[in-house]
Amino acid sequence: MKKKIIDYENLDKKYLWHPFTQMKAWIECSQTVIERAKGVYLYDTNGIKYLDGVSSLWANIHGHSHPTIVNAVKRQLVKLDHSTMLGLTNVPAILFAKKLVELTPNNLTRVFYSDDGATAVEIALKMSFQYWRLKGKKYAKKKKFVSFSNSYHGDTLGSVSVGGVAMFHKVFKPLLFRTIKVSYPSCYRCPLKEEPHLCEIDQLKEIEAVFETHHQEICGLVVEPMIQGAAGMVLMPKGFLKNLEKLTKQFGIHLILDEVATAFGRTGKMFALDHEKIKPDFLALAKGITGGTLPLAATLTTTEIFRSFLGEYEDFKSFFHGHTYTGNPIACSAALANLEIFQKENTLYKLQGKIHLLKHLLKSFKNLSHVGDVRQLGFMVGIELVFNRSSKKPFPVIQRIGHQVVLEAHRRGVILRPLGDTIVLMPPLSITSAQLRKLVKTTYDSIHAITQEQKPQRNSI
Ligand SMILES: *Cc1c(COP(=O)(O)O)cnc(C)c1O
Repeated sequence: MKKKIIDYENLDKKYLWHPFTQMKAWIECSQTVIERAKGVYLYDTNGIKYLDGVSSLWANIHGHSHPTIVNAVKRQLVKLDHSTMLGLTNVPAILFAKKLVELTPNNLTRVFYSDDGATAVEIALKMSFQYWRLKGKKYAKKKKFVSFSNSYHGDTLGSVSVGGVAMFHKVFKPLLFRTIKVSYPSCYRCPLKEEPHLCEIDQLKEIEAVFETHHQEICGLVVEPMIQGAAGMVLMPKGFLKNLEKLTKQFGIHLILDEVATAFGRTGKMFALDHEKIKPDFLALAKGITGGTLPLAATLTTTEIFRSFLGEYEDFKSFFHGHTYTGNPIACSAALANLEIFQKENTLYKLQGKIHLLKHLLKSFKNLSHVGDVRQLGFMVGIELVFNRSSKKPFPVIQRIGHQVVLEAHRRGVILRPLGDTIVLMPPLSITSAQLRKLVKTTYDSIHAITQEQKPQRNSI
């Protein structure tokens, strides 16, 4: 029998609406339909193979369809597919919560599940807010959150409120709650136009000043620790996070760490907080949590905060928040398998050499005249393209240079993502050295191919 050929691409264009996507351009251009995946490779419906340079957006830690996760999911699926966490509990949800508490700093003792990064952050905000209500009149003024410029915490209204990417958030502004914004240290584009060592000190001063004036009104500080992802892989200077922790403790402000992007080995340690041994009041986890199989998120908090919600039913101290698929047993089984692989395969140990190799390979990018800055923490890399290197002047937005580079890499069999004109690499931790070389070389060649015609002198604008 002849196999019927279905035009999936056109069906997509007829029925779907994609996230963060200008659908006019999507419909006009040719699109790739992914059909299957194995290891670090994705395959489209034409059988063409692509190296997954962004771990399918931070998710596939150990590559695609790792047998340990596949088998765990299969086993769980036939045993218990789903049961609610309202009035009941289930085995994988319990076991995974225990593992998370064991893996994270010892002050974090409770796990609240949800399904996405945005909800994990949203839950931390609501818990922090309610905590201060429960503490009584003395803290009645604590109603605000402090967050960072250019930060990204997800797309629900609460997480957008603490976000700082103007382009995403501007239109929703009337719906958002007000926050106090402070600037995230960025050495390449220092908001204070300072030398790196001074910039750090001055930015802490800015935060300290905000805390001093407003600490009685502030519930918590939300921050992407060590590195801002969606902002274009912007790194904190060493010691900055530790100082932030000190300041929040000193002023009685919750420290809310959003490790949705950075957790599960991404920065070279299990959690980004491990770099400076931070003990936050809340920790939000998602993206890599199930190794890229199923949606799951967790918000961890302390015994102190947990206990303040305890009381008689009629005290109405409960945390009235929940999602239907909270603690889903299949997702929690996948998450347990994800951690099992870390242990069995010594993932973090093996990663260290590859991080060094990546660092070494990235050195050559300085030879490209339109590469302004290369930033790396572990397996998170941002390559910022600029029109003019000495003035750091960006390319005209209309050129969409980052997007062009990503399309070029796509043609060469590598999947990357642009964050504006910053090209990001975040490969699966399981990538081999040879595959890593191929990823970096293709990125280099794609940037070269797209930007070599861009001569600042001649095309001056
Ligand atoms: C992606 C991301 C989120 C949002 O996670 P979703 O699962 O997409 O809702 C939140 N915070 C950070 C730091 C992220 O990178």
